[in-house]
Amino acid sequence: MKSYYMPTKVVECENVVIKNKDLFGQYGKKALIVTGKNSSKVNGALKDVTDVLGELSVSYEIFDKVVENPPVDNVVEGGLAGLDCDFIVGIGGGSPIDAAKAIGVLIKNGTENAYEKLYESKGLKSIPIIAIPTTAGTGTETTPYAILTDHKNETKRNYSPRVFPEYALMDVRYFLYMPLHVRNNTCIDALTHLIESYMTVNATPYCEYIALEGIRMWGTVKEALKDETMSKEAMTVFMNASSLAGMAISQTGTSLPHGMGYPLTYYNKIAHGLANGVVMKAYLEMCKDEEKVSKIVDNLGFDSLEQFGGFLQSIIGTLDITEDEIDKYSESLMANAGKLKNHPDPVTLDDIKTIYRKAVKGVTI
Ligand code: NAP
Ligand code: FE
Repeated sequence: MKSYYMPTKVVECENVVIKNKDLFGQYGKKALIVTGKNSSKVNGALKDVTDVLGELSVSYEIFDKVVENPPVDNVVEGGLAGLDCDFIVGIGGGSPIDAAKAIGVLIKNGTENAYEKLYESKGLKSIPIIAIPTTAGTGTETTPYAILTDHKNETKRNYSPRVFPEYALMDVRYFLYMPLHVRNNTCIDALTHLIESYMTVNATPYCEYIALEGIRMWGTVKEALKDETMSKEAMTVFMNASSLAGMAISQTGTSLPHGMGYPLTYYNKIAHGLANGVVMKAYLEMCKDEEKVSKIVDNLGFDSLEQFGGFLQSIIGTLDITEDEIDKYSESLMANAGKLKNHPDPVTLDDIKTIYRKAVKGVTI
């Protein structure tokens, strides 16, 4: 049986918020805007939203304290700021939009016992979410996931409820002023979603089609990652590839590279996309389905996996972690049943250590 379910309405054009103003009026009288500290003020997204809400006489509260890789405490703070709100507009990268989804669950179900609600209660619903992404990385605008920092387990983990945004509003204008490291790390995250989705055991033909097309699109603009300033045209392709990647992982989840990236982000503060991207080549070398790996390499426009690896290294470099860290992080991955079961073949502790080692030293073992 094949199925596909991704209910978010995706609208993409320049000035998307202004042009689709009326949709902000359908969810109630008061909005909670959830965003990061700074970027949505600089790229114009926050002003567009507040202008539109003002015109519609929808009142709003702004919670602009979402930190990168938000922990539960941060989300509770957002929930308390918006208890009387009817819907949420999440603006920013994956951190604010994931926080928006979790805050929506807490506003609907109460902020007490937040950890249990977010990590242990599968069926909880949220108030409606409108997602306005500003990084071409996580694809969270088209996924039901929210990845929060779980300090109890010293890792990052998807929450238990599944909340798809009602709308994903995409405007490339918001993406054009990312600092180079944010832009490249997030674009690499999108590529890892496409690749991991395609390689998972869960990939249906629909997902494979979406993922391969996303990989092809990403490959057409890859050289633009080397430029300090990216053209609007190239950024639009990355933005669309990122949303496609969200659509793909919304069905399949991610797998080993994301599971291996979480400890790198938790303990070594390595940005999310970079943490997954840095292990990608060694992961593909371990994958047994050579035909699928060749299709990825071809669709990206490379001659070989070696060439792809060299390209990734030129953009994001190699890892700098110790053998002790490799041991600890490999054990952490082996305890992550969710990621292991998404990989089509049995995986050993040594397999994972080998991937980390190759990523650290950049050598073939
Ligand atoms: P992020 O953590 O949301 O933001 C990283 C940095 O980029 C912040 O300093 C942010 O500034 C800045 N930024 C965001 N948009 C910008 C723009 N347009 N111009 C300039 N700066 C901008 O980064 P992210 O990589 O998008 O999100 C990572 C999070 O998403 C992780 O927690 C990851 O685990 C999660 N994730 C979720 C999913 C999912 O399906 N839900 C999938 C993959 C990853 P401000 O703080 O000022 O905004
Ligand atoms: Fe990711």
